[in-house]
Amino acid sequence: MQKGAIRVQTENIFPIIKKFLYSDHEIFIRELVSNAVDATQKLKTLASVGEFKGELGELDITVKVDKENKTITISDRGIGMTAEEVDKYINQVAFSGAEEFVNKYKDQGNGANIIGHFGLGFYSSFMISDKVEIISKSWKDAPAVRWECDGSPEYQLEETTRADRGTDIVMYVNEDSLEFLEDGRVRSILEKFCRFLPVPIKFHDEQINNPTPAWTKKPSELTTEDYQNFYKELYPFSEPPLFWIHLNVDYPFNLTGILYFPAIKKTYEMQKDKINLYSNQVYVTDEVKDIVPEFLMLLHGVIDSPDIPLNVSRSYLQGDPNVRKINAHITKKVADKLDEIFRNDRKSFEEKWEHTGLFVKYGMMTDDKFYEKANKFLVMEDVDGGTFYTLDELRNETQALQTNKEGKLVIIYSTNPVQQDSYVWAAKSKGYKVVKMETLVDAAFINTIEQKWDNVQFTRVDADIADNLIDANENKDSVLTEEQTTKLKDIFTFQLQSQPNIKVDFKGLAADAQPVIVTRSEFMRRMKDMAAVSGQ
Ligand code: ADP
Ligand code: MG
Repeated sequence: MQKGAIRVQTENIFPIIKKFLYSDHEIFIRELVSNAVDATQKLKTLASVGEFKGELGELDITVKVDKENKTITISDRGIGMTAEEVDKYINQVAFSGAEEFVNKYKDQGNGANIIGHFGLGFYSSFMISDKVEIISKSWKDAPAVRWECDGSPEYQLEETTRADRGTDIVMYVNEDSLEFLEDGRVRSILEKFCRFLPVPIKFHDEQINNPTPAWTKKPSELTTEDYQNFYKELYPFSEPPLFWIHLNVDYPFNLTGILYFPAIKKTYEMQKDKINLYSNQVYVTDEVKDIVPEFLMLLHGVIDSPDIPLNVSRSYLQGDPNVRKINAHITKKVADKLDEIFRNDRKSFEEKWEHTGLFVKYGMMTDDKFYEKANKFLVMEDVDGGTFYTLDELRNETQALQTNKEGKLVIIYSTNPVQQDSYVWAAKSKGYKVVKMETLVDAAFINTIEQKWDNVQFTRVDADIADNLIDANENKDSVLTEEQTTKLKDIFTFQLQSQPNIKVDFKGLAADAQPVIVTRSEFMRRMKDMAAVSGQ
């Protein structure tokens, strides 16, 4: 048997790293700015534990594009690197100084909020460069260094001069990547990935980020207006949100964020992908499938978790234990919030129902945990509008009249109160309650919920079963005799025979009701004065 270590040929692996590290070349900006942020945060940590005693000064990170010389330069005033450190962290591919730093300082409660951990990010600069230069001066008392590499596995490292502590990364942009020399392009990439990074980032001289976004603050520090303003910052053209949930967990996983309920009404003009995922304030993606339960994908806002694996394939996410826990946590928070509004301010809950009803119903259909909680606050709106019943309330109000032969509560609903006007009217005249089930989700919701709710049967107001229920409860004191009914029927049939799509019902309704209902399929309306005809 032979055992041994696999040998990696740098000549072969290096081009692969450069080319295929990320499918999106624009990622290099995220990686290099993240390194600059890490270097700055590390310096702050060293200052806070008393190892660094000098002046911190301005800690801004600057990004500059020089179109003439075809360079992009990213500069920071962080900890910098000595020659030994460049050799250790840069020349050793996949050795992460970020990870090393976090391990060293984690026991002191510091070192969190460091972004890097794979030790590959720096090399993404070669995706767009012919040559990359590092000029760095450490916070330690050591000469400044200059490192240069043209993308071959050979580098040069030498002493140089740099007045201040910190690092410049200079990228000599290659011919295929000249787009990254356009100010507009760079600015939009910065705004995407770096918008909420915790250190001021300047593009040329203008700061492009908000280093302290609302979700990083404690809920107790924020007013309603702060939450609304942050929403406006995220979605400048949207209507104000209905309410929001501030996520703030640090055990057993780390999760912060704010989820907003948008105003959606029944227009179905709902936008997906409105939740942005961050990791330590670095934008990662707007694809939050699996992390956010599917029925809440229409929420807006931000979630930030360094515990979500970022660089692994998306299909792996589903099985990740942290992702599953985060998903369950979000579901619980949303259910609790709705429950809280329901219990504390029923009126406000009902006012929001046209927006939230869809989420709640969809959630009840797809998520058992959510179902358990939502069962208490799901409401059904009376067909006349403005009155809402929970299942229990509806049962209390209607049990006496609306129980069928099998002892089941019959919930009579209308999918279109205008078109089904005559049926609604007939049911109401019997003293039945009719609720609205008008939205797209309702048909599927009724199917699911009928199986879950014991002893409940849904019946559409114009269905035969509704008629049966009505017939069963009917006292047979019709205003018409049998003879009159036949006569009336003849008159109507004769008069309307040339009209397609018209249906005439002779229901034998009770004394307080009209005996004939004429419906036209595309435009149904009750014929008001039909009772008068019966006199003929
Ligand atoms: P990671 O950030 O995952 O550790 P990178 O390849 O992005 O890996 O960077 C490798 C290491 O190089 C970093 O961990 C850090 O020690 C060092 N480094 C990179 N950029 C800077 C910088 N601007 N200032 C100081 N050190 C840096
Ligand atoms: Mg990095």
